Amino acid sequence: MVNEEMGYKAHALILPYPLQGHINPMLQFSKRLVSKGVKATLANTIAINKSMHSDPTSPVDIETISDGFDEGGFSQAESTEVYLSTLESVGAQTLADLIKKLKDLGRPVNVLIYDGFLPWALDVAKQFGLLGVVFFTQPCTVNNIYYHVQRSILPLPLAEPTVSLPGLPLLQASETPSFVSDSGSYPGFHHLVVNQFRNIDEADWVLYNNFHKLEEEVLDWMAKRWKLRTIGPTVPSMYLDKRIEDDKDYGINLFKPDSSACMNWLHDKPSGSVVYVSFGSLAELGVEQMEELAWGLKGTKRYFLWVVRAAEQSKLPGNFIEETSEKGLVVAWSPQLEVLSHEAVGCFLTHCGFNSVLEALSLGVPLVAMPHWSDQPTNAKYVEDVWKMGIRARPDEKGIVRREVVDLCVREVMEGAKAKEIKDNARKWKKLSKEAIDEGGTSDRNIDEFVATLVKS
Ligand code: UDP
Repeated sequence: MVNEEMGYKAHALILPYPLQGHINPMLQFSKRLVSKGVKATLANTIAINKSMHSDPTSPVDIETISDGFDEGGFSQAESTEVYLSTLESVGAQTLADLIKKLKDLGRPVNVLIYDGFLPWALDVAKQFGLLGVVFFTQPCTVNNIYYHVQRSILPLPLAEPTVSLPGLPLLQASETPSFVSDSGSYPGFHHLVVNQFRNIDEADWVLYNNFHKLEEEVLDWMAKRWKLRTIGPTVPSMYLDKRIEDDKDYGINLFKPDSSACMNWLHDKPSGSVVYVSFGSLAELGVEQMEELAWGLKGTKRYFLWVVRAAEQSKLPGNFIEETSEKGLVVAWSPQLEVLSHEAVGCFLTHCGFNSVLEALSLGVPLVAMPHWSDQPTNAKYVEDVWKMGIRARPDEKGIVRREVVDLCVREVMEGAKAKEIKDNARKWKKLSKEAIDEGGTSDRNIDEFVATLVKS
């Protein structure tokens, strides 16, 4: 009743893990909720709020909680473990404070939609009698593996060279997430991803940023256990169904994009001629890998637009930018969606962060998959063998993808024997992505169902 008087159906508080790849899909989902009459408030950490560039016209309210490191966030903490435990203790307290504050301001919250990486948020939701909804930003396949580890059904370290789980193709150990195949490598992150499942049985809803056709079998398997729905892809509406006016960007950038440099450069390049290269917001390449990739790109003799974050640029070979200035442009951050939707772009060499994969899928761009860590090796396997919209650039025994391999993979995707099949599949996924989120599509119906229960609650 109070909500209706305020002009909205319900008030959702959305809590992403403080990373670009988690904020983007959760912010985008918030905009979808607003378009369906729900008020949405997104809670960032204070540190993220200090460093971000945000869209002042966004229909989503922004509030803050604290991760205990208000100046520098993760980089201020002495270790991953210290960061994560402080995020939990200070985060839970300041989240509770925020829920109280919104109530005092006359904007009481009905539902908390929290990132799977933050399972403690469910306890806070329950403490206030709110609906608790977990939102996963990584694929269902990857989470199914973590689930089996958390329930001790898949013991680690892996005993066999392959992994067989319900709803999944047979995976080589190296195709499982790095926190599983190399389970001792990052204990803090390993705990984070596996722990997502510690209290999932108590969550009221389980939402996935993907769509049914993309991971049908594993989604159906998981949906038998929880009230699970797909609500994606959470790519801005203007690239898909165009039902949300002016929605062409996520709206929060942790890095400042070199937009005009990228778009001006792309402007006069022939259709399908450019290789776009990006490893997302986190991946750090070794110097040797950077060098191999650089000379590999040069070897393709094609145009390339390469995102090398400012902190990574010192690893580029000394004379690389000058030597390739006729063919290449290196920027510190790009407006990725605008770039991927530009007709000059012919393929995307990606680390396979799930947002990048979903964006390429939604925009029909063929991929060269060069996974780095976390869920990326599994995503890369799916890109090549399940979704069949790209190929994997395989590393040598030292774990380095060599320049010849980069060159060969780019050629293969852009003009090789498989190029046509890959392009046809990319087009198919683009159509299916749009269908899923457009009026009456699977994800659209799921969002409507979700909103309808919020109104009743
Ligand atoms: N991104 C961007 N500009 C860039 C590189 C990435 O806007 O130059 C965006 C990209 O569109 C995606 C996100 O940053 O939405 C990265 O998320 P992803 O899951 O692909 O990778 P992560 O950064 O989490 O490793």
